[in-house]
Amino acid sequence: MEEKDILTGLDKYEEFLKKLETEIRKMEDYRIAIIYTDIKYFKYINDTFGYRRGDMLLKEFTRQVTQGNGNMLCAARVFSDNIVVASKVGSRMSNEEVREVIHRHNLEMEKRFRENYSAARLKFCTGISFISKEDRRLDPATAVSNANLARKIAKEMKEDCCVLFDSRMTDGIKREIEITSSLSRAIADGELKVYYQPKMKTDSVRIDGAEALIRWQKPDGRFIYPDEFIPVLEQSGQIVELDYFVYREVFRFIAGRMRENKPIVPISVNVSRAHLHKMEILSYLSSLFEEYRIQPNLVEFELTENIYIENTEKALQLIDGLHKMGTKVSMDDFGSGYSSLNLLSRLPIDIIKLDKVFLQDEETDNDLSENDKIIISCIIDMARKLRITSLCEGVETPEQSDYLSEIGCELQQGYYFSRPIPKNDFEMFMDRNFPGKGGLITA
Ligand code: C2E
Ligand code: CA
Ligand code: CA
Repeated sequence: MEEKDILTGLDKYEEFLKKLETEIRKMEDYRIAIIYTDIKYFKYINDTFGYRRGDMLLKEFTRQVTQGNGNMLCAARVFSDNIVVASKVGSRMSNEEVREVIHRHNLEMEKRFRENYSAARLKFCTGISFISKEDRRLDPATAVSNANLARKIAKEMKEDCCVLFDSRMTDGIKREIEITSSLSRAIADGELKVYYQPKMKTDSVRIDGAEALIRWQKPDGRFIYPDEFIPVLEQSGQIVELDYFVYREVFRFIAGRMRENKPIVPISVNVSRAHLHKMEILSYLSSLFEEYRIQPNLVEFELTENIYIENTEKALQLIDGLHKMGTKVSMDDFGSGYSSLNLLSRLPIDIIKLDKVFLQDEETDNDLSENDKIIISCIIDMARKLRITSLCEGVETPEQSDYLSEIGCELQQGYYFSRPIPKNDFEMFMDRNFPGKGGLITA
């Protein structure tokens, strides 16, 4: 007996896959489009109008998607509001034309549904993949998961609700899997290293600190940069493991310098937003301070502006915990997002790091425009009045550095002084640039 879904009358997913396999086998001079659709904000309809209304909408949606489609081969409800349809497509129609037809159909449905169900936010999101005669060996479930992947991308998009599958999409996913599955091994094998980028004191152009930045170098010498793997690790939650690794390396480095009686500057580390949910970071850091016996003022913490904006309460708790340990906290990337100036007066931060966007002006080729100058000098002035130390990142030219001195920005960091460099190079840099060489920093 055929397996049907009670609510929609469509096939169950297993049955659909069997039928699709048969259809692929008997395919002639046409190709098969796998059209995978779901309703964005369906949960909102259920929550607001009740499940009965939700069920009605789903039945109507199924009718709209499947009826009047003479080319339909089979259709199923995969789960909840996810409907997949397999349709014949003639050789005269391009993939893009198929996408346009479905896109238009989705827009019409949205309009009608919004009127009938007073659901203003409702949106249909569709992903489409194709099976042609050449890829007859393709497993039907893979074709569906390709369409589903495109659908997920459609769901993220603001404008478009209908996206064609592209093999590069799976390349991206493969890369993510490669990153998430190899992190622990890569740490154990020494592929991840902490680099250091000096921070200079504006008035003396001497080193005043450094930022620890992670680098991942594969055995073939190729670097994977943080901008690529950090977002992936943030998604998977493994960023906590990475951050802890960096913190331990930094503590070990500072303790080593102190043991050898060599001068050292405070090192700042980045704090991912993932720590806000757990707050275990505080006990982890306390145990590091205990184990390595270093002064709290030698480690500083950078929290990006977004963290403060997303969850001010938790951010306040975290800053409080870090301050109780005796460490300093800075607001990183200030000005890169929706910076709220009022946060500056509400949050007890010690240092404000102006984002490098202020200095990177493509139009003027890194010469600061008059408008940039006004904004930067206002922020620095404000920081001074609030007794917050100001640091500008992304300093690349002597002109930029001179201007920052002129307006009283206290610290600077950027390629003009040094790129992030491996530990040994950083030690040499420090030894050359340390104020009153030889003395151990005290406060
Ligand atoms: P960030 O915290 O804003 O770090 C500053 C970034 O600016 C670094 O990129 C640095 O190499 C780059 N930079 C420094 N000076 C200049 C300059 O003069 N010009 C230009 N164009 N860029 C400059 P990087 O190392 O690629 O790191 C990117 C981001 O990845 C960091 O941004 C930070 O958010 C994150 N990240 C890096 N290491 C870690 C880490 O250990 N833990 C966490 N949670 N995040 C990290
Ligand atoms: Ca930073
Ligand atoms: Ca930054």
